Amino acid sequence: MALLTLSDVTVRFGTGTGTGTGTAPHAALDAVDLEVAEHEIVCVLGPSGSGKSTLLRVVAGLQSPDTGRILLDGTDQSGVPVHRRGVGLMFQDHQLFPQRDVAGNVAFGLRMRGAPRDEQALRVDELLELVGLPGAGRRAVAALSGGEQQRVALARALAPRPRLLMLDEPLGQLDRSLRERLVVELRGLFGRLGTTVLAVTHDQGEAFALADRVVVMRDGRIAQSGTPLEVWQRPASAFVARFLGFDNIVPATVGDGAAETPWGRIPVPDGSARGDRLLLVRPAGVRLVDAAQGLRCTVEARTFRGSRVAVLLRPDQPGDGPVLEAECGLHAAPAEGATVGVAFAAEDVVVLEERDERPVRRVQAAR
Ligand code: ADP
Repeated sequence: MALLTLSDVTVRFGTGTGTGTGTAPHAALDAVDLEVAEHEIVCVLGPSGSGKSTLLRVVAGLQSPDTGRILLDGTDQSGVPVHRRGVGLMFQDHQLFPQRDVAGNVAFGLRMRGAPRDEQALRVDELLELVGLPGAGRRAVAALSGGEQQRVALARALAPRPRLLMLDEPLGQLDRSLRERLVVELRGLFGRLGTTVLAVTHDQGEAFALADRVVVMRDGRIAQSGTPLEVWQRPASAFVARFLGFDNIVPATVGDGAAETPWGRIPVPDGSARGDRLLLVRPAGVRLVDAAQGLRCTVEARTFRGSRVAVLLRPDQPGDGPVLEAECGLHAAPAEGATVGVAFAAEDVVVLEERDERPVRRVQAAR
């Protein structure tokens, strides 16, 4: 049985009744079904305003659903107040108590439960050790770095042994290198403790590094749910693909082993859905070949991304489709203004499950 189950949960904001007065109610969550298994780390990912915080608030009991049910360990939570739900919360701004020292902050949940002082002290020491701040109990929270405050907030959320830990943009305030390190530490820590985690973030790197399962939200609905690898390899829709940073998306008519697209005929993996679809080509699948072969393009821009270069290519013929991005090694990237040919590799082509919503633009076979 799932530790957490949301079934058909809707939350609406707005004053109107939908009959012509006030603001039309707006569904921040729209009939959401979601299960989180015991020990699972689920990251909810989506753009700002997609309903991520509302999802956490409704599970925590800070917001009542208009319809639907929330079950924890099989028990309906309607009417159960926040402090009786057994969930731990950690928000992006830490919300540490500035007048208390580190130990006073970590012990907060234990104090609220009336735990004896010596038990509190033991548990605080244990947690500070766990989050990599051994012996920091007497330090003032104002004197800690952002990363240390984050660890204290985490220790505080873990102290009462919540059955579900919920994180809202847990590493949002920290700089990138610290975030990348902490996310790996967090995943290891949750794995060792067997903590069940529901986290929300708008940062895909963070979600993919932390999660066993990623849930992508759009306008209060779940757009896709899957392991990081599944979502990365097979985005379900153009929305998910674009949110992950993939921009090479064109309408296509998919036939046997290949698709007709504005970029010409492109090979597709075996078993791809047929018909009028949207086609994603990951930048790794855009191969540069001799200018006399393939689709003739001019290099419009180059962007360095660590050890790779993103190369923006504009097809030379105006009817040959939109600009496309290729990914090259540092030394293989052509110069701006160079003329290149483009070929496509089927293993990095994804026929999206959704149908092409726009009127189908038939592509001339001859170019
Ligand atoms: P996210 O966390 O993904 O940024 P939110 O859950 O905060 O999204 O918001 C989802 C939608 O609900 C947004 O359109 C937001 O404006 C609206 N919303 C959130 N909280 C309130 C509120 N208290 N009153 C009115 N509208 C709200």
